[in-house]
Amino acid sequence: MLLHNVSLKPYNTFGIDATAARFMPLTAIEQLAALPSAPPYYLLGGGSNILLTQNIGEDKIVIHNQLKGITTVAEDSESVVINVVAGENWHQWVCHAIDKGWCGIENLALIPGTVGAAPIQNIGAYGCEVADVIESVFYWNFNTQSIESLTAADCQFGYRYSVFKRMPADNKVLITSVNFKLYKNKQPNVSYNALTDYFKAHQVDSPTVRQVADAVIAIRQSKLPNPAITGNAGSFFKNPVISLAHYQRLIAHYPNMPAYPSAEQMKVPAGWLIETIGYKGYKKGNAGVHSKQALVLVNYGGATGAELLSLAKEIQQKVYAQFEIALETEVQIW
Ligand code: FAD
Ligand code: NAP
Repeated sequence: MLLHNVSLKPYNTFGIDATAARFMPLTAIEQLAALPSAPPYYLLGGGSNILLTQNIGEDKIVIHNQLKGITTVAEDSESVVINVVAGENWHQWVCHAIDKGWCGIENLALIPGTVGAAPIQNIGAYGCEVADVIESVFYWNFNTQSIESLTAADCQFGYRYSVFKRMPADNKVLITSVNFKLYKNKQPNVSYNALTDYFKAHQVDSPTVRQVADAVIAIRQSKLPNPAITGNAGSFFKNPVISLAHYQRLIAHYPNMPAYPSAEQMKVPAGWLIETIGYKGYKKGNAGVHSKQALVLVNYGGATGAELLSLAKEIQQKVYAQFEIALETEVQIW
């Protein structure tokens, strides 16, 4: 079923009011087989990692993934392999796993969006990445008009990266489901500083998966704007990874600059860079930088995608001028 001139406002967490000339709610795989292979598609999940900067015209079809289902593929005394269909809500899947006592995705609680989008940028938080628990990814290939799959190794997962991220906005593949391997008797990973501090403060020595998820939810709710109230798409920029030589030059000027080793290089929190140029809490028209986390750009109500993009560019220029670091957007610009 193809709908016409649909407002995308309810379908993106920035709450940007743009329209799609052609919009297809995807509720069954068979609908994909009926589509021509050539025209460009915009593939939409929860809309929590996109910025709409224009109306989407007749030349494209926005496919809104509403495919659902959770099935057990394999199970033994130690682990389970679960197939989760791509249109399932990510946080609801995390809650399902926690109810079952399965370990592996509790640190990724409360990330908005769909299961199908999770492998694309290899979602990560609080010391874990989804790549840690993915066995394989299934996708519809618009060119071959069939379902194909990649093992986790073939997905080339990296920091907020996978082989799927290389595909342009008019994607040629649509992720249809993901196989996750979770564990029944594993200790959750609480090595991330914010979690270690949380459990020390709450005097919990060996937290359960549910306690870890609850901690992650509490920490996130204390820092991040709720998209239902204030439009945002989480971290707008990726944390940059810089060479050791570049890091040495910067730390000489900014001894308090936080940084974490990443392979042979150093990862610098982009939020700290934005705070240091004085933009934390900055407001420009209806767009702004969140007052508790400078990495999050927000729509205070009625902002256009162009306004937010202009603010993002201003930040990129200032950060580059001061640190010679080119911030890359994590959010996909449509
Ligand atoms: P969408 O925004 O709908 O799409 C994102 C991109 O993926 C688009 O290019 C789209 O075309 C493509 N896409 C979507 N579904 C498919 C599919 N089935 N097949 C092929 N391509 C597809 N991210 C993190 O990594 N860690 C976090 O901790 C985190 N916290 C966040 C907190 C908040 C408050 C918000 C608003 C966002 C946060 N994010 C975080 C970003 C975002 O939630 C994730 O990137 C999420 O996986 C996006 O899912 P989505 O379904 O909303 O994707
Ligand atoms: P934070 O704890 O204040 O830390 C700031 C940054 O430092 C993070 O981005 C994190 O990088 C890095 N960091 C902190 N401790 C680290 C460690 N021990 N080892 C390596 N890197 C470390 O961050 P926050 O803003 O409150 O976010 C908490 C977590 O949620 C982070 O993992 C963040 O990625 C995730 N998050 C992501 C989004 C998004 O949209 N992508 C939005 C909100 C929160 P990493 O980002 O690599 O972890």
